[in-house]
Amino acid sequence: MVKIFIDPGHGGSDSGAVGNGLLEKNITLMIAQQISNILQNEYEDIAIRMSRTGDATVSLSERTDAANNWNADFYLSIHINAGGGTGFESYIYPGVGAPTSTYQKAIHEQVVTMTGFNDRGMKSANFHVLRETHMPALLTENGFIDTTSDANRLKDSTFIVKIARGHVDGLEKAFSLTKKQNDSTIYRVQIGAFTKKENAANLAAQASGKGFDTAVLFRNNLYIVQIGAFSSRNNAEQLAAKAEDAGFSTYLSN
Ligand SMILES: [Zn+2]
Repeated sequence: MVKIFIDPGHGGSDSGAVGNGLLEKNITLMIAQQISNILQNEYEDIAIRMSRTGDATVSLSERTDAANNWNADFYLSIHINAGGGTGFESYIYPGVGAPTSTYQKAIHEQVVTMTGFNDRGMKSANFHVLRETHMPALLTENGFIDTTSDANRLKDSTFIVKIARGHVDGLEKAFSLTKKQNDSTIYRVQIGAFTKKENAANLAAQASGKGFDTAVLFRNNLYIVQIGAFSSRNNAEQLAAKAEDAGFSTYLSN
């Protein structure tokens, strides 16, 4: 059993960074909830706790105390950057070494691969949540809220899912997590994820218009636009490439 404590930064009276009509506290919660949903739906032998599951004010000590009292195996803190810049960076406590640095590398690389974020590097800092946790801890800064191009991507729930999937793929690697065994693995080619059904329907109509077979699924509290499902990863990747050529942003889910 791997116990993962997920900490969506800020919340309640602390909105975190603000920019381009976005509040950091809302985006960190969306990313954290997606990470939690995906882990619980798709992996065996894991337990998840979150520092908050809604828009609550939680102090830094309350967050690290909760993780310490639960004896978490890993502490993952999700933030959005500000102050000018673009892309992704991650932090561990200075000089902490392995296994924390190994986990950082696994998660950092997968998030960059999945999102295409500009890679600002693996860093270290003396942050409360990294210092006061008794277990390996990582803090990720997922784009800049005050940089228009990053903020526009963060407004898209498809992109939020990609950020979450990157973290999950990294956790899978870091902790050798086991996937739940369904009958067999199915590779699903998806082009969008939305909180609003109409937005999913609109994208599905566009894809149908370009000759793709589309279906809208409701999964992890989002409306997902899917254009195919395959037992062969190769076939799924071929369809994804075709959809990218047609101007859609794709990702594989299984
Ligand atoms: Zn923050």
